[in-house]
Amino acid sequence: MRDAVVEVNGLTVKFDDFTAVDNISFTVNRGEIFGFLGANGAGKTTTIRVLCGLLQPTGGSVSVAGVDAVDGGRAIKPRVGYMSQKFTLYNDMTVEENLTFIASLRRLTKADYFKQRRDLFDFIAFDRPLKTLVRDLPGGTKQKVSLAAALLHNPDIVFLDEPTAGVSPEARSSFWALIRRLSGGGKTVFVTTHYMDEAEQCNRIALMREGRIIALDTPGGLKSSTFPMPVLEFEPKGAMSFARFAAIKRQELFLFFEPYGIRFHACVRNGEEWEKVRSTYEETFSIREITPTLEDVFIRREEVERV
Ligand code: ATP
Repeated sequence: MRDAVVEVNGLTVKFDDFTAVDNISFTVNRGEIFGFLGANGAGKTTTIRVLCGLLQPTGGSVSVAGVDAVDGGRAIKPRVGYMSQKFTLYNDMTVEENLTFIASLRRLTKADYFKQRRDLFDFIAFDRPLKTLVRDLPGGTKQKVSLAAALLHNPDIVFLDEPTAGVSPEARSSFWALIRRLSGGGKTVFVTTHYMDEAEQCNRIALMREGRIIALDTPGGLKSSTFPMPVLEFEPKGAMSFARFAAIKRQELFLFFEPYGIRFHACVRNGEEWEKVRSTYEETFSIREITPTLEDVFIRREEVERV
């Protein structure tokens, strides 16, 4: 049996007349890495703020780690960790001062604080002096210390809002190794990201657009439901005019035909029809079948929603 740690039913959040989150429902299971994807302003942070008991929703029911998030904001806080997009640590304070401050907010005993800090420093492989100012930490290390801060009170579930924004690819990769270890140890990780390589590492992904969840599945499930036909990559053999691109795009033959760097990604509607004309296209394009990426999924889903 699956063990849901987050249950959201019909969640709606309005700011005056503006609906930031529009009647969304989903569950997240224990130990899952659950990704929240969407363009800026889609409503991801607002949803997380409700799940952390920081914002009262306008409607719907939300339960986190068995606690009702709507009435029991206070009861939720010990069960969740939150690494916010903008701010988790004070830059002008040392690592030690930051963690001591957070431990006091979380009302940890001294013994628990020291044990947790030691375990978490091992976990993130932190080997700098405790007196280091946070502003002097390299970006990747700062993010790891932020993660440690979010985990200091040993929550069941941790919400990471764009935890790797602006850090190097190497630091992103080592941060994600930590996320996988957390999940392997039974913690639930709820993460927002704009990086598709990170999204690939989630167990399931919810795609959000204008306050609604437009798709929710495993990375593989999203790819197969978005692209029922093989995805083809077209590489022009020579220069290609915009008029030619527009003409191809208008063809009924293609479900879509979209630029992807200097190439194009496309799906045909009907395999038999395609085989009849394929050789004509091969005069001007090198064509090969590719495995779609989550970026393809994201672009395609957004396009479908726009029309
Ligand atoms: P990003 O990737 O930029 O963080 P997001 O998907 O997290 O985007 P939210 O921060 O949840 O999006 O914002 C959703 C929408 O709600 C945005 O249009 C935002 O301007 C609006 N919004 C968020 N908080 C408030 C607020 N307190 N008052 C009014 N509008 C708000």
